Amino acid sequence: MEYNVSSLLKQHTGAIREYEVDDDLLVDGVTHHVRGHVRMDRTPDGVFVRARIAGEMQDECSRCLQPVAYPIVLDIEEEYIPTVDVNTGARITLPEGDEEAYRIGERHMLDLREAAQEYWALALPIAPVCREDCPGLCPACGEEIGPDHPCSREQIDARWQKLAQLRL
Ligand SMILES: [Zn+2]
Ligand SMILES: [Zn+2]
Repeated sequence: MEYNVSSLLKQHTGAIREYEVDDDLLVDGVTHHVRGHVRMDRTPDGVFVRARIAGEMQDECSRCLQPVAYPIVLDIEEEYIPTVDVNTGARITLPEGDEEAYRIGERHMLDLREAAQEYWALALPIAPVCREDCPGLCPACGEEIGPDHPCSREQIDARWQKLAQLRL
């Protein structure tokens, strides 16, 4: 997910490059295989990247803690600003208030990984579930609550009451 954009930077505004993505992306110490498409447009200031990249997240259900896998789709839209002018070699400083922009490296390498990692983190659900109606774990016995679950509502309530008394 690193692209040498020196020839694109030498072209006029509106020039385009397109790439297929089939790569590994490391996020929080876990490698995910990702595939997709990247389009780069030369802008007056740099390169505007539009990428649609998809991978799969291995996680656990927030209710029953069983393993779950679900797709993650990243729709990246970011402008990358060069660090060095491709024609003159002069350093390019960002205008004030724009210091957060993504940069193209000194050797004109545009590295999509940082943006992909950030978009990945934003795409994660707050509470993943194995299925929408996952009942979760029984607060009394810790097992998954099925239709014939032995623990009754009264038993559960009694346990919570005991717990509440302990806390007094
Ligand atoms: Zn579940
Ligand atoms: Zn139970």
